[in-house]
Amino acid sequence: MTFNIFNHEVVIQEVPNEISLSFSVVGCTLNCPGCSWEGIRKNEPYEELTDKKYIDLLEKYRGLCSCVLFYGGEWHEEKLKEFLILAKDYDFKTCLYTGLDEISLSLMKHLDYLKTGPYIEAMGGLDSATTNQKFYDLTLKKSLNHYFLKKSIAKEDKVIFDS
Ligand code: SF4
Repeated sequence: MTFNIFNHEVVIQEVPNEISLSFSVVGCTLNCPGCSWEGIRKNEPYEELTDKKYIDLLEKYRGLCSCVLFYGGEWHEEKLKEFLILAKDYDFKTCLYTGLDEISLSLMKHLDYLKTGPYIEAMGGLDSATTNQKFYDLTLKKSLNHYFLKKSIAKEDKVIFDS
């Protein structure tokens, strides 16, 4: 079974206080209505994330990025664990965005951050106050959802401008 990705890119907003090298993994079967990845699935070709390609990227971004983020991939659990362990070997923190509400403990122990929950349009994503999704700092054992709330950021900005 091959571990295929749509793309890799550097992102700065998906994991609070980290610059992340992210991988969008092919194969999510949850089919959340309104999933913004559906278009990507249909329109973009994908490629296998081989060990060599992955290690080359870890070497390239070591010291530039602080975290490796996987969007999905829990359906290839053993391979994903291998990639997470390698990321740790290269001094990256690790994060998984999953649409599931729970993942195995054996996978969780290789993660610093975890986003759980399917996308439910009526409740919104992480930037919505009514979201069902949760973002955890697993080291500190606490939720970081407040970092994603658009309204709270807007409020803070307003306070700065008003003072
Ligand atoms: S879990 Fe994420 S990628 Fe999978 S269908 Fe839901 S929104 Fe899309």
